[in-house]
Amino acid sequence: MTRIAFIGLGNMGGPMAGNLVKAGHEVTAFDLVEASRQAAAELGVGIAGSAKEAVSAAEIVVTMLPAGKHVLSVWGDILPAVKPGTLLIDSSTIDVESARKAHALAAEHGCPSLDAPVSGGTGGAKGATLTFMVGGAEDAFDRGEPILAKMGRKIVHCGPAGNGQAAKICNNMILGISMIGVCEAFVLGEKLGLSHQALFDVASTSSGQCWSLTTYCPVPGPVPTSPANNGYKPGFASALMLKDLKLAQEAAQGAGASTPLGAAAAQLFGLHNGWGEGGTDFSGIIDLLRGHDKA
Ligand code: NAD
Repeated sequence: MTRIAFIGLGNMGGPMAGNLVKAGHEVTAFDLVEASRQAAAELGVGIAGSAKEAVSAAEIVVTMLPAGKHVLSVWGDILPAVKPGTLLIDSSTIDVESARKAHALAAEHGCPSLDAPVSGGTGGAKGATLTFMVGGAEDAFDRGEPILAKMGRKIVHCGPAGNGQAAKICNNMILGISMIGVCEAFVLGEKLGLSHQALFDVASTSSGQCWSLTTYCPVPGPVPTSPANNGYKPGFASALMLKDLKLAQEAAQGAGASTPLGAAAAQLFGLHNGWGEGGTDFSGIIDLLRGHDKA
């Protein structure tokens, strides 16, 4: 049994904290929102009166927050209250620069740390099947891995501080670009009189095969479990895809990398979100490519 503090009990953090309780750990948590605190309490999570109070006796602290500024603010607040040597793990998706600043902040307080963003969405958070992409020192990883394994199925050490976030945004840039490519192919196929099923049967067994096609097929029919069969209910919301594509662009500019297709994908998802589609699944961008958004 490990004493774990968990800060940020939203769509992802709440069920993740619940899985740590299920695994037999003592979890004390905090969120700014009462409804999130209540939902977590129903999963057996102990609720503290503040983030500082939650971390005071912890051996490991996990944060699951919206963006880099929240992580830096919460870590700045709690670090004076944690015991030296406490392991801090941030699982939010944030920019690489803020992640590296957070590691430096923890080191100043004598605490090891990991950036450990996830993929797998809310289903993965509930089912403890997330993939964790982890950046940080080897000994910190060895300490954190058994805890992460209670919330996920695959834990990959990607290298030193910030490399978990780097892996996350690179992966999601591939995903954003590949989804647009698959959508364009279906729209072209429609114009050429090709059925969705025929295109799927060919591309899914040919060189066009990819996850956006075979798992998240953006048209209803060929993959019955894809969000296209459920009114584009997420799944993975367009707003989160846009967030990750913007993080990738920020990182590319900082690193001097040329990512023209990533930039185009960010623009297209920006347009799609601007039409009020941020809450629908990202595969719904096919409507924008058909010219149907708000038509
Ligand atoms: P969410 O908005 O549901 O949850 C964030 C929680 O943080 C909220 O409950 C909010 O009240 C809390 N919070 C904000 N500031 C706080 C503070 N100062 N102290 C305490 N609590 C605070 O978001 P989510 O969907 O749970 O996502 C969390 C992170 O995981 C994000 O970085 C997101 O990009 C990433 N992520 C989300 C998904 C997904 O499918 N939802 C998938 C992969 C990664």
